[in-house]
Amino acid sequence: MIYLDHAATTPVNPLALQAAWPWLTSEFGNPSSTYELGSRASVALEEARASAARFFSAKSSEIIFTSGGTESDNLAIIGIALANPRGRHIVSAKTEHLAVLESLEFLHRAHGFEISWLDLDKHGNIIDFQSSLRADTTLVTLMLANNEIGTIHPIRDLVLQAHQVGAKFHTDAVQAVGWADLNVQNLSVDALSVSGHKFGAPKGSGLLYLKSGIQTEPLLHGGGQENGLRSGTENVAWAVAIAAALEQVTHSGAASNFGPGSDSERVSKMRDEFIGNVLKNVPSARLTGDALHRMPNLASFTLAGVSGEAVLLELERRDVIVSSGSACAAGSSDPSHVLIAIGVNPELAQTAVRFSFSHETTTEELALANTALVESMANFT
Ligand code: PLP
Repeated sequence: MIYLDHAATTPVNPLALQAAWPWLTSEFGNPSSTYELGSRASVALEEARASAARFFSAKSSEIIFTSGGTESDNLAIIGIALANPRGRHIVSAKTEHLAVLESLEFLHRAHGFEISWLDLDKHGNIIDFQSSLRADTTLVTLMLANNEIGTIHPIRDLVLQAHQVGAKFHTDAVQAVGWADLNVQNLSVDALSVSGHKFGAPKGSGLLYLKSGIQTEPLLHGGGQENGLRSGTENVAWAVAIAAALEQVTHSGAASNFGPGSDSERVSKMRDEFIGNVLKNVPSARLTGDALHRMPNLASFTLAGVSGEAVLLELERRDVIVSSGSACAAGSSDPSHVLIAIGVNPELAQTAVRFSFSHETTTEELALANTALVESMANFT
């Protein structure tokens, strides 16, 4: 099988599972218990927190373990907005993940927040950020990298502008671990969401970086775990697993170097070659997203005249696994809201196919995927 859907999810890294195993078996203590079994779980949890914090150049106290990207987005957006309402004004973009869009919809519906939607160009780049900011803007939430079209936003520049008016800034960095610089000191963000299953930790693991001093309302109320921000007995095993998976990203060198000679650059070159071949061999194919400011591991196309879902099945028959649009919208067959937001017409949006790679993806696999796509497309003519 040639698995090219790493933006949907990744296989669990054996080292992450191995690190988690004791905390699922013999070391089953509750970290809040004061006897030895509990204290050992508490120490493991805090070590995992310190290790994850190092990855982001954050303090341990700034890492909150969650159940994934969706929860991190909800906690950051709803939690920060409710605790710092200011003018009840939020700036975002329609290309965000549904976890962000639906959190904003909730704030609008239940708490009267006004959302300003940024204008985007046809590649998903933000056109005029500055003019959307107000003196009383509460929060800006913009993703680092788009999960469907791969476009990367210049987060640091945007943060500096948002901070000038006193707004807080959250970024959904779920797709970016191992592909972009997530040093929170460089990014200057106030909150950053991460999901473990996008880089070798299990599904249902995640974390939120929350800068110290940022007031946040919890979503879950109870025993006051995770610094009062996420009550409920901690999932020690998944915290250990996500920290171990982050360590593997660091050890592979994929966390620190994104310039010349880096693995990101190598994968970007593979991606560009793959994109070039698809555009050459499939006349109806058009790249979606920005050609330059784009995730190294993501190539996405519209294929006018065919259904993306049908292409996906044809590719699967040839043992190549990809996604049509976004797998995150739970079985939805609606055209991708991201493509609609960048002006693709709904009919063309139904033809979208996304290929997303890992650091282990090879040029041979991409060549086979390209052949499989050409063969699949020939089936429709
Ligand atoms: N944000 C982005 C950009 C994503 O791609 C995803 C999942 O695909 C999520 C949030 C949700 O993450 P999770 O599946 O961990 O809830």
